[in-house]
Amino acid sequence: MLLYELTSALAAYLLFCTVLLGLTMGSFASCMAWRIAQGEDFLRGRSHCDECGHELTAKELVPVFSWLVQRGRCRWCGSKISVRCPFTELLCAAAFVGIVVGYGVTAQALQYLILTVLLLAVALVDYDTGLIPNGLLLAIIINWAVFTPFLNQSAFLTNLTVGIISALCASIPLLLLSLFMDRILRRESMGGGDIKLFFVCGLYLAMQEVLFLLIVSCIFGLLFAVLTQKKTGDPENPEAFPFGPAIAAGAYVSLLAAKPAVAYYISLFF
Ligand SMILES: [Zn+2]
Repeated sequence: MLLYELTSALAAYLLFCTVLLGLTMGSFASCMAWRIAQGEDFLRGRSHCDECGHELTAKELVPVFSWLVQRGRCRWCGSKISVRCPFTELLCAAAFVGIVVGYGVTAQALQYLILTVLLLAVALVDYDTGLIPNGLLLAIIINWAVFTPFLNQSAFLTNLTVGIISALCASIPLLLLSLFMDRILRRESMGGGDIKLFFVCGLYLAMQEVLFLLIVSCIFGLLFAVLTQKKTGDPENPEAFPFGPAIAAGAYVSLLAAKPAVAYYISLFF
């Protein structure tokens, strides 16, 4: 069911719910990423203030609004809460709206919403630690394997094969290139986590869309490196910057834009 098939009131209500869900899941992704980065168990224990350990009450867990009402500070110890929290929540809400506008209320949309939350967590953890946790990559693979065989009109095996071939197309050339560059530069040119992330994102795309993913991710990577000047902090490789956020953003944009972009590109020639 796509949005234009609904009455405008129903579509507006659905988008409102999507925003609320996006804000909440953004908060969840933020919390999950923080706990993974700190090495805490992210499924257990309640959310708490990083400084004083005060357990957050329901009133303090409302996305964005709690932060605004408390003016970005803990109610107990007054320590600052990063502006990144409400920013992540708003970003997730916007990303959710994009998926629901593009894919409506469908199983495909649900798969992409889950993927969005996982990509957001990957981006945050990589930004903080310079590492892409295998657990999150595995979750992205599981999300693919649970939904993809049953989506589209094509057969179970076709869907699986297309995904795996795309994933290999997205990762093998980079793996070879990075091995080659490592030899020339005599240091690590690209993290193994980045290549694995390209692999799992490739699963969700068709083969011709992989090139779009690679190009968009590289553009985001350059912008990100220039704008944030963020480094991974790897002592052996001081110039390295976290590529994960750019790949995650590239993958998200690919979900929405790769198909029309590839169709447009092909239309230029035929
Ligand atoms: Zn506190």
